[in-house]
Amino acid sequence: MKIVLLGPPGAGKGTQAKLISKGFSIPHISTGDIFRKNISEETPLGVEAKKFIDKGLLVPDEVTIDITKDRLSRDDCKSGFLLDGFPRTVFQAECLDDFLKNREEDIDSVLLIGVPPEFILERMTGRRVCLNCGSSYHIGFNPPKVAGICDVCGSEIIQRDDDKETTVKERIDVYEKSTQPLIDYYDKVDKLFTLDGTKSIEEVFEDVSKHLAQFQVKK
Ligand code: ADP
Ligand code: ADP
Ligand code: ZN
Repeated sequence: MKIVLLGPPGAGKGTQAKLISKGFSIPHISTGDIFRKNISEETPLGVEAKKFIDKGLLVPDEVTIDITKDRLSRDDCKSGFLLDGFPRTVFQAECLDDFLKNREEDIDSVLLIGVPPEFILERMTGRRVCLNCGSSYHIGFNPPKVAGICDVCGSEIIQRDDDKETTVKERIDVYEKSTQPLIDYYDKVDKLFTLDGTKSIEEVFEDVSKHLAQFQVKK
């Protein structure tokens, strides 16, 4: 099962990715999580990526495409994967297609989580994340059991620097200019499946699960 998650910042991609990864036993690959881990460890990749992320801009393709290919080349991705936050540009999508073609593979489905702009700011400013395991919470809609602590791994949860209002606005602009064209790109090859991301987390996951059942390898 090879899946791509698409949607504006704050649509719920990370939240659904965690549920899908667990429910369907496929690795969750989030380029944003990879960057944040590198930033917290102050690696050269992290230092470079931070310059762009803090401004709400995309990290350059040269960097992003290589780390994604490396990650997809690992053994755990052989029978499937779930990409969250990649591709974000048509060029990245073309590179992904070429990479998979070389391995005689293809994407099964692209899940677009649709959320109108008026939902985004509230979701992003209330978001709290765990840098250790990538889990995402919301102070109002999806709070952790113990305030400030990740349910999954017990680490501290924090507000991302790029979830402040001015950066969020820039990221929405970047999404509309650079990432939205991917909707057409995947619709043309009949891979797009659109979900109503304004529903509750549980309802969205129910819709996702029904759709993904068709791609599950019967054991
Ligand atoms: P993305 O990865 O698309 O940026 P997240 O999964 O991190 O989005 O979700 C953004 C914020 O919205 C988080 O605080 C999350 O807890 C919350 N959230 C996610 N899905 C929903 C939903 N269906 N309803 C309400 N809040 C949600
Ligand atoms: P969100 O889930 O809120 O949309 P992500 O965690 O996916 O945000 O990404 C955070 C930031 O990391 C992005 O704003 C961007 O700067 C950078 N980033 C993540 N994935 C990519 C990508 N595929 N191409 C370029 N930059 C990326
Ligand atoms: Zn955690």
